[in-house]
Parts: sequence; C-alpha cells; structure tokens
Amino acid sequence: MEFIDVKAQYRRLEAPIRARIDAVLAHGHFIMGPEIAELEQQLAAFAGARHAITCASGTDALLLPLLAWGIGPGDAVFVPSFTFFATAEMVAMTGAVAVFVDVDPVTFNMVPGQLEKAIDAVLRRNASAHPLPAQALHRQLTPRAVIPVDLFGIAADYAALLPLARSHGLLTLEDGAQAFGSRYHGKRVCGLGAEAAATSFFPAKPLGCYGDGGAIFTDDDTLAALIKSLRVHGKGANKYDNVRIGTNSRMDTLQAAIVLPKLAVFDEELTARQEVAAHYRSLLAGVPGLTLPTVPTHCTSSYAQYSVLFPSETVRDHVAAALRGQGIPTAIYYTTPLHLQPAFAHSNYTAGDLPVSENLSQRILSLPMYPFMPEADIAAVGRAIVHALQQTPPSHS
Ligand SMILES: *Cc1c(COP(=O)(O)O)cnc(C)c1O
Repeated sequence: MEFIDVKAQYRRLEAPIRARIDAVLAHGHFIMGPEIAELEQQLAAFAGARHAITCASGTDALLLPLLAWGIGPGDAVFVPSFTFFATAEMVAMTGAVAVFVDVDPVTFNMVPGQLEKAIDAVLRRNASAHPLPAQALHRQLTPRAVIPVDLFGIAADYAALLPLARSHGLLTLEDGAQAFGSRYHGKRVCGLGAEAAATSFFPAKPLGCYGDGGAIFTDDDTLAALIKSLRVHGKGANKYDNVRIGTNSRMDTLQAAIVLPKLAVFDEELTARQEVAAHYRSLLAGVPGLTLPTVPTHCTSSYAQYSVLFPSETVRDHVAAALRGQGIPTAIYYTTPLHLQPAFAHSNYTAGDLPVSENLSQRILSLPMYPFMPEADIAAVGRAIVHALQQTPPSHS
C-alpha cells in the first residue's frame, strides 16, 4: 500500500500531461515559457485572487513576500509551532525572529487569542503572559507579520485573525501549502483576504507538480510587481537591469505544463479526497481511543493529510507499528513542534511552553490518503486500526 500514490494520478492523466510536456519540448521556452503565464492566470482565477505569481517552491513562496515587505532583523513574525519547518525557517532566513504561537486542539490551527497574547508580550517585552523567544527579551522587536497555516487542508480562523492582525498593524501571509483547493466560508484558500498567500506544488501536496514549485497570491498590484522582480534577480525593466537584490526563484515551464492538466481535474480530485475521508469516518467513527479529523462546518478540507489522534504516544506508536507490520504506511506530522527544534534552540523555548502543539506531536498519526485510494485499502487500514486498538494494553491507554 502507498501512503500517497502519485503514480495512480499519473496513470489517469498520462495523455494530457505528456501532450503538455511534449509541447514544451517542442517550443523550447524552458524558463518563463507561455505555460507559466497560462498557469498564473488560471491559479488566480481558481483562488479568487488578483495575482498569482509562480516561484521555485512553497518555501520561496513564503520567503518572497517577507522580503518584499522588507521584513528582517529587529522584526517579529508570529507563526504556529505545529507546522512544517519552512513556515518558521523563512522568517529566520530574513533575519527576523519567529515568535511561536500555540494551536487549537481540534483544527490544529493558530489560536487567535494566543496570537493576541503573543503580540502583547512582544510589545511589552514580557514573557509572563505568553512564552517568547530569547531574542524578543534581549531587544525590543517590532511585530510585523503573522503567518497562519491552513494545516492538513483546513483554513485557519481568518475571520478572527485578519482583523486582529490589522488592528496591530501586522501583515498576514497565509501559508496555504497544504490546503490549496479548500474552502472557507465558500471562498477558496489563498483568496481569503490576507495581504499575501503562499502555496506549494511539491508532488505530495493536494495540487502537485513533478518536482518543486510554488505560488504567491495577492490582490496588491505593488506587492505583485515587487515579487516578480525579486524572483528574477531584482530585475527592473528587463532582466539585465537589476534594481534590487533578489534571487532566482522561477518555476520551471515544464512543471507549469504538468500542473495545468492537473488543475483541470483538481475539483474532481478534491471530491475524491473527501470521499476517502468519508469512508474512513464510516469505518472509524466512535472507535474508542481514536479521534478523527473535524472539519468546521464553514470549511471544506483538501485533506493534504488525514491525521487522527490517539490517547497517548504509547498507543500511537503501538498502532503505527501494528500497521507497519501489515504493510500499511503511516507518517507522523509533526514529531517535534518547531519551538523545540534544534534549529531554534537559540530561542530558548522549553518543553511546556506551547502545550497543545507538544501534546499533538505525541498523539498524532497520518493515514494513507489520496484521491481514488482503493476502497479495499481504506477498509484494510480501518480494520488494522480497530484491531491494533483492541490489542493495546489497557495500562497504556
Ligand atoms: C510543504 C510546505 C511548505 C513548503 O513547500 P515546499 O514546496 O516543499 O518548499 C511550507 N509550508 C507548509 C505548511 C508546507 O506543508
């Protein structure tokens, strides 16, 4: 069994994908070829944003808006602790300080009330109301931005986060790398009104290419122009006119050619993912010792991951081992919350600072999930979990 079967999707779309690749091989515009503009137009329309700007990865899609906003040393950027490393890594890459905020135990997304406390703690340079990184105590940092993450496919609480951020003068960068295609109050992720949004086309994401790729979304014409310059060495009117320090962060034309036919069937695949989730729910709802994902009624999920919770690390690890023994792959996203990662050791966070993130990292397990996952495989995963939970020694549960 596969955790995510990207080859199954290729088998369904082989003809249109090959035709698109052949067209690129024929015209030879491998860098910023016509497929890039075509994809950017389609992505913007799909997400309901004025601009979509492709770039080299989801990681760069986070970095470029931060650079465009001039965020750097002396600035604080608020990020959830329970997310993929890149969310906080790119903040540190700019020289700004990542201030970690805890997440909701049900949606796994940033808690607006905790964000408010964290902003206040930075402004007052006082960690008594909210844990702070050492750098925020050494000097007065300026709160500049917040990066809410739409974890596993569910949009963060933007109805609360956006007004809160604006009332403190913070810019919001939505990290929609796992949730592209999902809806929030009817609107698509990456078009929810944040000053900028980022997504990733890493192959295992809901909308993946066959390599690295990403995109930035914004309604702000000035920001869009700045990001387009930064992704090509700070170009001005032409590419040998360098008006600022930028980088090389273009998405390959071939990767755009691969995403285009996938985007055409993306809605179908999103529905298929929701059907897999519904099937899991029909098999596993009410099983003692198991918490299934909850999608708030105003949201739909792209199910980048189907992540369940067990009562303890012991039970989680027992179930994962039992599944592995039957050839069923699982994954733990994330084994270590970011505030406790070695790369952030200099921030001096300690265990207990962000209890929900720490607790989730011990109890969470992601199950195989991809569009059109065979029903027999879903049933086998369901049976294996029920069986493993029955075998768990009661002293451990
Ligand atoms: C995958 C991911 C990224 C980074 O995307 P890449 O394309 O792998 O660079 C950033 N944030 C989150 C939440 C992700 O899941």
